[in-house]
Amino acid sequence: MAARIQTIRGFRDILPEEAHKWWYVESTAREILGLFGFKEVRLPILEQTALFARSIGETTDIVEKEMYSFVDKGGDSLSLRPEATAGMVRMFIQHSLYHQPLTAKLFTIGPMFRRERPQKGRYRQFYQIDVEMFGFAHALADAELIHMLDTLLKRLKIPVYELHLNSLGCRKCREPFKEALKTFLKDKHEQLCPDCRRRRTLNPLRVFDCKKEQCKAVLKDAPLITDYLCEECKAHFLQLKGYLEELKISYVLNPYLVRGLDYYTRTIFEVIIPGIGAQSAVAGGGRYDNLVEMLGGRPTPATGFAIGMDRLLPCVPEPEEKQRPLFLALLGEEAVKVGLRWAKVLRANGIWTEIDYRLGSLKSQLNRANHLKALLALIIGEDEIKKDRAILRNMDTKEQIEVPLNPEEGLAIVKQQLGRK
Ligand SMILES: [Zn+2]
Ligand SMILES: [Zn+2]
Repeated sequence: MAARIQTIRGFRDILPEEAHKWWYVESTAREILGLFGFKEVRLPILEQTALFARSIGETTDIVEKEMYSFVDKGGDSLSLRPEATAGMVRMFIQHSLYHQPLTAKLFTIGPMFRRERPQKGRYRQFYQIDVEMFGFAHALADAELIHMLDTLLKRLKIPVYELHLNSLGCRKCREPFKEALKTFLKDKHEQLCPDCRRRRTLNPLRVFDCKKEQCKAVLKDAPLITDYLCEECKAHFLQLKGYLEELKISYVLNPYLVRGLDYYTRTIFEVIIPGIGAQSAVAGGGRYDNLVEMLGGRPTPATGFAIGMDRLLPCVPEPEEKQRPLFLALLGEEAVKVGLRWAKVLRANGIWTEIDYRLGSLKSQLNRANHLKALLALIIGEDEIKKDRAILRNMDTKEQIEVPLNPEEGLAIVKQQLGRK
């Protein structure tokens, strides 16, 4: 036998059972996002490496270690997108979407790629629902985003989750904070892990992202951004909290929250599901008022979030099956022809219809019907053709009734039995 080819490490297939749940979560998200006036866009998964280096930051783990980058045959340095915001901003600038205020509320659904160490709940190709809002500086925009995320999680019946909230301030107030943090960390140099020793001077905020206990212990007494916010940033944060209270959305103030990317300003938030392990953040985002300008666009305030589908999905209760199929049990070539006419009419009426193409005995066909959880089986054999009547069997109660063989005449009875008008 030839050697089998398998998926690459850290990559996986999503099989029908699971894919059905993905479809359910994505369609529910599309519905809720639509209620808030967001429009869907689709973006390439491959972009110039420079886009991510400039937006996410050269000194982040993502850009330094985790991107799938390569030089293509034309000599360009390209990368598979490690997140969606940078591409959304590129698109916003490239198509001058600031001239079209109606399309400034956007979302996209698709795969992202990071070469992380594979572990439970973490894949190298992972999926996100990414939502971005351009052109709105007001805290009301942040409140709307969080309200939308909360509405979606409630609709998906996620039993327990926490919204963690912080403000990272603006350019003006973050610099004094960074200086204070640098000074604080300088004395603790020996206690920090090797990564954080490097981060300390390059990008001290990154130290808050470190998962190592030794660094967490150091940070217990560190200065906090919330004590350094300027008047405008303080007012913005206060306003947001006021709106969330109005919406009765509970939140946890978490002054240690920084998120893994460089471009955030002011509001940042994460949704945590307790008890699902180290990867407990299923969604996160925040405001990034300088990024559009940093990437060559005109200054545009912006805010957004992403939902990690791979982490969220196991926490979503199974959706209820709405429809069960109708099964056509067909015995003999004449019956197959009548059955095809039935199938055409049923499907044209939106009824899920199944046929066992092996066309075995009645018993084996009805077994197949049970296996497919069919509610009804329409049985057609030589006798039925002679009598010009088909048998409609309820697979749950085993009750049988006769219906006209001609689908045009029999359809009304089938619909009635399916509980449809
Ligand atoms: Zn500020
Ligand atoms: Zn560390």
